[in-house]
Amino acid sequence: MFEINVGDTVITRKPHPCGSNEWSCVRSGADIKLKCLGCGRLIMLDREECKKRTKNIIKAED
Ligand SMILES: [Zn+2]
Repeated sequence: MFEINVGDTVITRKPHPCGSNEWSCVRSGADIKLKCLGCGRLIMLDREECKKRTKNIIKAED
């Protein structure tokens, strides 16, 4: 089960064109909304796509 919550930091396998590979989860549901920590761009992905692109998740509570 792919577990992601609002506030978690997502590290993607491929960097965004701006050079950052760190994203903040701003919405978690059927679709997942991520905000690029490099340039502030927002993207929406379905859970399956998000899982595929994710290398690591840093939990907000940790
Ligand atoms: Zn970016």
